[in-house]
Amino acid sequence: SKDEGGGEHFVYEPSLHALAEERRQLELSLRDALNNDEFLLHYQPVVDANDHTIVSFEALVRWQSKDHGFVSPAKFIPLAEDTRLIVPIGKWVLRQACMEARKWPEHVKINVNVSPEQLLEPDFTNEVVEALAASGLRPERLEIEVTESIFLRDASIARAALEQVMALGCGVALDDFGTGYSSLGYLRKLRFSTIKVDKTFVQGAAVRNAESLAIVRAVVAMAQSLDMTTTAEGVETEEEAQLIRQLGCDKIQGFYFGRPMTGEDALKLFVQSMRR
Ligand code: C2E
Ligand code: CA
Ligand code: CA
Ligand code: CA
Repeated sequence: SKDEGGGEHFVYEPSLHALAEERRQLELSLRDALNNDEFLLHYQPVVDANDHTIVSFEALVRWQSKDHGFVSPAKFIPLAEDTRLIVPIGKWVLRQACMEARKWPEHVKINVNVSPEQLLEPDFTNEVVEALAASGLRPERLEIEVTESIFLRDASIARAALEQVMALGCGVALDDFGTGYSSLGYLRKLRFSTIKVDKTFVQGAAVRNAESLAIVRAVVAMAQSLDMTTTAEGVETEEEAQLIRQLGCDKIQGFYFGRPMTGEDALKLFVQSMRR
């Protein structure tokens, strides 16, 4: 901790110690996870809000650890970010996702999450170029997803990196919109292709709540006038899907239309629809 001289820190906290130990064990395993082939990607469909056809899949990383079993990304992604292990992991994700997307119909895109640590690496644009080249995927089919947190650190470097990726022809989505430190200033400077409205504005009681509805409506209006599309996240029910469509969101993602699935199952969705 920062204030070592504070004098309160010698109080021994067994539960904190246990947490720190668990974290240390997890970190040790995470260091070997790439070499041990313990990661895989799942893919969640993103559908057109009006006709419900699949327009994209979001790649979501999964860790099947031989030491810890299944570890949720909510747990290991922050750890990977703190330790910078997210840089090689993210590189692997990008390559793997582009390779998989190459198997899908040409109009279907792939969304890939990128952490600030990864984006701020000087080599990031090169990694995108290499992932596209290795897979043969057209740049227009790749949309990376970043959260507002990238602007908290090195805003100008983040912006430059995103502009380079856009110059390649790729899209950039602003993820979890409305949950972070929302300064709208950067929306003026960066042409995001998509704004992803966070699930807290969409789910359950939220869509029956006048304030949430007003916010979604305002975000959609703002996105439209800035020539950006909107995706609503976390749609779990038919009612939510209808409301979201009425509010004018372009795309929908959520358990109602499909849970994250293996690459094999994602591919089957297209084979089925081609047979129809
Ligand atoms: P995210 O980018 O906001 O991804 C959406 C999360 O919401 C996923 O959780 C997804 O399974 C979940 N979700 C989708 N639809 C619904 C729904 O209808 N209801 C509910 N309750 N949840 C839904 P997941 O896969 O556990 O990922 C959690 C977070 O971990 C992601 O949030 C993202 O921030 C991070 N993450 C996942 N994969 C990667 C990756 O490859 N790289 C990086 N940097 N971060 C990743
Ligand atoms: Ca995301
Ligand atoms: Ca999100
Ligand atoms: Ca998130």
